[in-house]
Amino acid sequence: MPYDLIVIGSGPGGYSAAIRAGQYGLKTVLIEKQAKLGGTCLLVGCIPTKSLLHTADVWQHFVNSEADGIHVENPRLDYPKVKDRKDGIVNKHAKGVEMLLKRAKVERLSGYATLLGGGQVEVRSDAGTQTIEAKNIIVATGSEARMLPGLAPDPEFILTNVEILNLTAVPKSLIVIGAGAVGVEFASIFKRFGTDVTVIEMLPRVVPVEDEDVSKELERVFKKQKIRVETGARAEGIERTGAGVKLTLTTRDGKQEALEAEKLLVAVGRKPNTEKIGLENTRAQLDRGFIKVDAHQQTGEPGLYAIGDVVAGTPQLAHVATREGMIAVAHIAGKAAQPINRNRIPGATYTQPGIGSVGLTEAQARAQGFKVRIGKFPFAGDSRATILGQHDGFIKVVADETYGEILGVHIIGPEAFELIGEAVAAMEAEATVEVMMQTIHAHPTLYEALGEAFNAVYGLSINA
Ligand SMILES: Cc1cc2nc3c(=O)[nH]c(=O)nc-3n(C[C@H](O)[C@H](O)[C@H](O)COP(=O)(O)OP(=O)(O)OC[C@H]3O[C@@H](n4cnc5c(N)ncnc54)[C@H](O)[C@@H]3O)c2cc1C
Repeated sequence: MPYDLIVIGSGPGGYSAAIRAGQYGLKTVLIEKQAKLGGTCLLVGCIPTKSLLHTADVWQHFVNSEADGIHVENPRLDYPKVKDRKDGIVNKHAKGVEMLLKRAKVERLSGYATLLGGGQVEVRSDAGTQTIEAKNIIVATGSEARMLPGLAPDPEFILTNVEILNLTAVPKSLIVIGAGAVGVEFASIFKRFGTDVTVIEMLPRVVPVEDEDVSKELERVFKKQKIRVETGARAEGIERTGAGVKLTLTTRDGKQEALEAEKLLVAVGRKPNTEKIGLENTRAQLDRGFIKVDAHQQTGEPGLYAIGDVVAGTPQLAHVATREGMIAVAHIAGKAAQPINRNRIPGATYTQPGIGSVGLTEAQARAQGFKVRIGKFPFAGDSRATILGQHDGFIKVVADETYGEILGVHIIGPEAFELIGEAVAAMEAEATVEVMMQTIHAHPTLYEALGEAFNAVYGLSINA
């Protein structure tokens, strides 16, 4: 009997969509080619990296405990145990996904799915090949690490996010190519575990999608932490040596330099998994490998939807994949759902200091012709930040002078990735800067710095 819905891929997009479809009573089957459920985010992305970042935070507390008046003798990092803890968290949640799917009465098929067109999907596995059919199909096949031309990853020296998460010891030195969220998070993890880290970025600044002031602050703090940062630089001539990797670097001012390190991480972006899934058998259209969709996540073929990292025009983030899944399933089930609003998508980068941002950067707001007012408040003026010993960073509010509309909020500092929640909710509720100035923020907290930043839009912050 045909299904109401076939979902291909069990990442945050696919598994959430399948569960929601089950909740709506749709006869749903989810196909996953890997043994474990959860996709990039759970298995080799968001969750394992944040587990390591948490341990890096805890380790830092021990290393710097003297300042708090706590004497710790010879703290020792047991990296295999750190890895075990990370793997345990991943496995627990992968099982959790399985349980949630079962509870929502979603059927599961193991194997590689290929679209055949006309609502049919072929599923290939060791057990054989079968064809299934549905009124609707959601493609949620995600992405994989892009490699530099002529370079292939290996488990030991030239790494992507997959191999680096399997290391069983902290490397002595690491070169990271690419200073997007993935690159800077790994740089932050391993620097704090004692690795000598160099970050190379071709563009003029680190975290290039963030507000320029945020990029400047992260680069400043990284340099203070003794992470070498080379922006506007090109990595060339990468080769393996006996003990590691050698690379020729052309710096911003054209100088050439040979760099050597034990490991090299390539973090230059993510390639959508849209090849070899049979899209040519459908009317779906592609834009540089990404699938084009309408406001309901529907492709050029009625009944064929795409969500998550494969979609053209939205950032490759887990919460975007999930939201897009909700929109697609609502459309399939005939329920109302707001299309995704690109300006309300929070970004979170878990470096030290962390980054949280939503909406337009200052440069984007000016380019769009807004009469921009900026409110900026440094964490140096926040007493909770002092208590935590984390004074780097600031909150920057980008507002429109005419109506006090909040256009964007950009945070770099302690718990920035949590603090951004207030800004997202404020923007979603269309609260003005004035409303947020009147909102009472508890003291002493990190989020009262947000209240101060909203006040700073009109030159009215108190503590800076
Ligand atoms: C190191 C790293 C850290 C990250 N950290 C964060 C973070 O902190 N926050 C955040 O929001 N995002 C983060 N991301 C991005 C996030 O992981 C992705 O945006 C998210 O996983 C995309 O979800 P998805 O459902 O589109 O696809 P994926 O999670 O990539 O899942 C796709 C699934 O489809 C399966 N599949 C593919 N093709 C087929 C096929 N033909 N048949 C059957 N199955 C198939 C794959 O095996 C996979 O399980 C991170 C990414 C990386 C690499």
